[in-house]
Amino acid sequence: MQRNLLEQSVLSGLINDMADSLSKRDRSALMARVKGKGNRSTEKVVEKTLKALGIKGWQKHPKNVFGKPDFYFKRERLALFVDGCFWHACPHCGRLPKSRPLFWLTKIHGNRRRDYRVRRTLRKEGIQTIRIWEHELNNAQWLKRLCSRLRDCRP
Ligand SMILES: [Zn+2]
Repeated sequence: MQRNLLEQSVLSGLINDMADSLSKRDRSALMARVKGKGNRSTEKVVEKTLKALGIKGWQKHPKNVFGKPDFYFKRERLALFVDGCFWHACPHCGRLPKSRPLFWLTKIHGNRRRDYRVRRTLRKEGIQTIRIWEHELNNAQWLKRLCSRLRDCRP
């Protein structure tokens, strides 16, 4: 996952360099692709682990749950978010690229505000939330944290 983060940083740098020659719309599209790529790989790790351990009863991005959490455990009413350290400003390893920090700060701040709104809304609906940072996928602690909230789970 460290490599993934590095890749994202490199890509971010590339985007900064290219930003002048890209229209605002193109830049958003490019960022969406980078973001999508990062999300997919971290989600894949979680999905593979759940499947390997035979943990069932979850859906990915259910449309009927506010904020379309990355994973949703219906029986426990538990929404799981797997967040990229860069895009969601992880306090442990999130840092801003050197060029155009304000641009990235604005973008990341928007993500943070959205995260907060989604979690607050879900809690009001009686849905618990759990967040796993990208860097946490390096060891099995996240799995213990998740399992402690599920009924049939032995990590
Ligand atoms: Zn992190």
